[in-house]
Amino acid sequence: MKYFVLLNSSGSSHETAFVPLEPQFKEGLTCPACGRALTEKEWIPPLRAELFARGEGLGDVAFGPGLDLLVSERFLEAWRAEKLSGLHGLKEVEIRKVHPESAAHSRYHLALAGYGMTQIDPKRSRVVREGESDCLQCMGGAEVTLVEGFTIDEPTWSGEDVFVPWGFGGCLVATERVLAMRDKYGLSNVTLVPTEAFVWTRA
Ligand SMILES: [Zn+2]
Repeated sequence: MKYFVLLNSSGSSHETAFVPLEPQFKEGLTCPACGRALTEKEWIPPLRAELFARGEGLGDVAFGPGLDLLVSERFLEAWRAEKLSGLHGLKEVEIRKVHPESAAHSRYHLALAGYGMTQIDPKRSRVVREGESDCLQCMGGAEVTLVEGFTIDEPTWSGEDVFVPWGFGGCLVATERVLAMRDKYGLSNVTLVPTEAFVWTRA
């Protein structure tokens, strides 16, 4: 299987962002080994948002704070038709406002990804940390400062098509099946870069 990072700010022609309105949250995932918070708090209903089209129009995926996604009706239909897995939640979001107002839009749904079991192979990855981690599961206690490519440890892959990998929780990884779905259905703002070519620096 080939793995890609789903880029949230890609400069694509349909780059799209969302902002939750009056959001309510519950605690996000915690590490089963050390109890540290792993993800941003999870957004719960009522789900209301504003959408921002940064390019020519709204994309089939919108990115918000954290790793939550909004996906279009088209995206969700394709996802279900191709029987992909790894996104949950999948509740409709009430779109209160679209910027610019001229951007046409359909319905959007919240989509959450989780951790699964899949790990980064540290020997074939360049993930630079500051400090000493005290948890082998989440590598907590140390802060990632730089990523210059990483490789998924294939035997640990638990089968999800979108997931957060153990070893670097700052991105969403998608399989080549998501790439194939994007191309088959012509989905926009699904920018995938091979994990080996992904570069990230702490802001
Ligand atoms: Zn931990």
